[in-house]
Amino acid sequence: MEFQNTLSFAQQLDQQDPLKDFRNQFHFPTFHDKTVRYFTGNSLGLQPKRTAEYISRELNDWAKYGVEGHFLAERPWFAYHENLTGHVAEIVGAKPIEVVVTHSLTTNLHLLMVSFYRPEGKRKKILCEAKAFPSDQYALESQVKFHGLNVSEDLVEVWPREGEHLIREEDILSKIEELGDELALVMIGGVNYYTGQLFDMKKITEAGHKVGAVIGFDLAHAAGNINLKLHDWGIDFAAWCGYKYLNSSPGGVSGMFVHERHANRPELPRFAGWWGYNKEKRFLMEPGFVPMEGAEGWQLSNAPVLGMAAHLAAVEIFIEAGMDRIGAKRDLMTAYLEFVIHQVSERNKERCSFEIITPADQTKRGAQLSILAKGQGRSLFDALSEEGVVADWREPNVIRVAPAPLYNSFEDCYWFGVLLEKAIQ
Ligand SMILES: *Cc1c(COP(=O)(O)O)cnc(C)c1O
Repeated sequence: MEFQNTLSFAQQLDQQDPLKDFRNQFHFPTFHDKTVRYFTGNSLGLQPKRTAEYISRELNDWAKYGVEGHFLAERPWFAYHENLTGHVAEIVGAKPIEVVVTHSLTTNLHLLMVSFYRPEGKRKKILCEAKAFPSDQYALESQVKFHGLNVSEDLVEVWPREGEHLIREEDILSKIEELGDELALVMIGGVNYYTGQLFDMKKITEAGHKVGAVIGFDLAHAAGNINLKLHDWGIDFAAWCGYKYLNSSPGGVSGMFVHERHANRPELPRFAGWWGYNKEKRFLMEPGFVPMEGAEGWQLSNAPVLGMAAHLAAVEIFIEAGMDRIGAKRDLMTAYLEFVIHQVSERNKERCSFEIITPADQTKRGAQLSILAKGQGRSLFDALSEEGVVADWREPNVIRVAPAPLYNSFEDCYWFGVLLEKAIQ
């Protein structure tokens, strides 16, 4: 499609957008005296209007039933997480047995690594991407130390090549091959939080399995953004948070994926809690842990129902919109925003120079564009913020913007260009 950087063209794209009405299902921030242009769905998704109703229902049932709400609530709390499983499995391309919603993301990564990072003999190394999200770095380091191993030796990072911003996939694959039978675990962010680079999870999984390693992904920036096929790709385990693209409330609940091939392995070591215990016998309170089949066997605690109610409200919208349509709009809208940014950059070459470091190839990215602002980065970001643009600044000099297909419009992207140009001038 031949794009044009005009308001009428953007409005025409909105007219043709089959998902345009979903925007009305969200609250847009009103804290600014200018119209807020929200591009931070990759950090905290906007609140669906139905969320308040879903949470109120649980508050009302709590008021009405007290503890009996575990069984008498309209959606009994005892099994509340089960309301989410089918939807979330559909969103991430998994079978229901492979998915559970529980705890928070970093907690889940640890719980999964306890089971799936089992260094033994010379097979003890973890391969990860350089500059992973800080929480992941700390989690990985502490896992290595927990096994009495040495971080500088056993945590191997793949770096971008000199002078490049992105990690070449071929470098990940060749590192996997090189580490061979020393490699215990590959643990990478499916979409890098800083650059927005999407990795080929299927290829990485195949390469890792070929040398006998276990493969896990952090999908914080992928869930609700990328059309995932976790089951088909053969990934061993994954976790993600609910509050970024999935719009499920600040600090909201996380999802875990454990491939079906591990569904019935009670011998896998794990940190256990009563909610992972065989639910038919959970309340007999007998000693000796008998895990549930599948991902549910990694749950520790009973469901935080208010957070899960927010998650249910949000994931229902994803099911109604459908990941296929969401993915199609994501690619078109991100390409349009990219086009608008390039135009502004062309026109203002003398004043300001910036570069989009996110891959230009649509199959290598999701909704996020990371703009490397050379020179006046921070002041440019501050000027944008003053105009009502909610974007995200990452040290040392990247502005991240992510148009979310469920609630951003092409017109938002057009206005981003106008305000970016104003900020430059
Ligand atoms: C957002 C994010 C986190 C946050 O972890 P929490 O446990 O939810 O605080 C972790 N890892 C990555 C890659 C993220 O993008």
